[in-house]
Amino acid sequence: MQIFRQKELLQNHLNQTSEKGKSIGFVPTMGALHEGHFSLVRKSLSENDLTVVSIFVNPTQFDNPQDLEKYPNTLAQDLASLADLGCDVVFTPTSEDIYGNQAVAESFDFGGIEKQMEGAFRPGHFDGVGTIVKYLFAIVQPTKAYFGEKDFQQLQIVKKLVAIENLDIQVVGCPILREENGLAMSSRNQRLTAVERQAAGIIYQTLTRAKEKYKALSILQLQTWVQAEFEQHGLLALEYFTIAEEESLQKVTSKDQAQAPRAFIAAYFGDVRLIDNMALYN
Ligand code: AMP
Repeated sequence: MQIFRQKELLQNHLNQTSEKGKSIGFVPTMGALHEGHFSLVRKSLSENDLTVVSIFVNPTQFDNPQDLEKYPNTLAQDLASLADLGCDVVFTPTSEDIYGNQAVAESFDFGGIEKQMEGAFRPGHFDGVGTIVKYLFAIVQPTKAYFGEKDFQQLQIVKKLVAIENLDIQVVGCPILREENGLAMSSRNQRLTAVERQAAGIIYQTLTRAKEKYKALSILQLQTWVQAEFEQHGLLALEYFTIAEEESLQKVTSKDQAQAPRAFIAAYFGDVRLIDNMALYN
């Protein structure tokens, strides 16, 4: 496995690969890797001649400086795991390498999907995501890029970015990997104690039960029920529970015309922010 810190050296290496007509799979990450990330890497390895993983904690997508500061870093372990998986190339740039002296995001118009949910509660977040993904795509020029449905809105944003920028890249969405109690795997879970991780299973349990109740209850009733579940549980603070259409990410207010509805949750355990989502239609 080759590790590149500088983009020029990575580009030289990848140019040789694409000149030979080989396909490049790309998995962008912020490190502190877990099985969720590894599932993306495995898929890329099975579908491409060469797989590139980037590890970069992108400052411009953090609306909360403390969240950025406390973001877990397990680089040595990440590299060892990626080597074990058979990953070909890892790119670990510095912030200066990407942004120069000042980390500033470009402004994007993603047609409104950037304004819902994560976009509403994390101002500027998707400008940051768009900026880094566009930059990394330009460097790596992958054939296929792999993103988890764990960050479902981000996956839709990246698809939109590829369309807006007219890029010849296939964006592949991958299913959510979960802990035994259903908690979606996340680097931020490392900031929870074992007991808290167990308690955080309520997010998945609530999504599962909301799905069961979807047919019988109105959207408003469902929302009220979810709020009551979190209040009763008491340990996690619900930020939002939203049902939105998968493609447009528009809020569903009446079930009649809903196209492929999906439920989305964001909740805080102390200062650790957790998100999850589940399709309601299958
Ligand atoms: P992150 O390092 O959190 O930026 O995540 C890097 C990629 O891994 C993103 O495309 C995420 O959606 C994906 N990912 C993170 N957690 C999971 C998970 N539990 N299951 C599947 N994909 C995930």
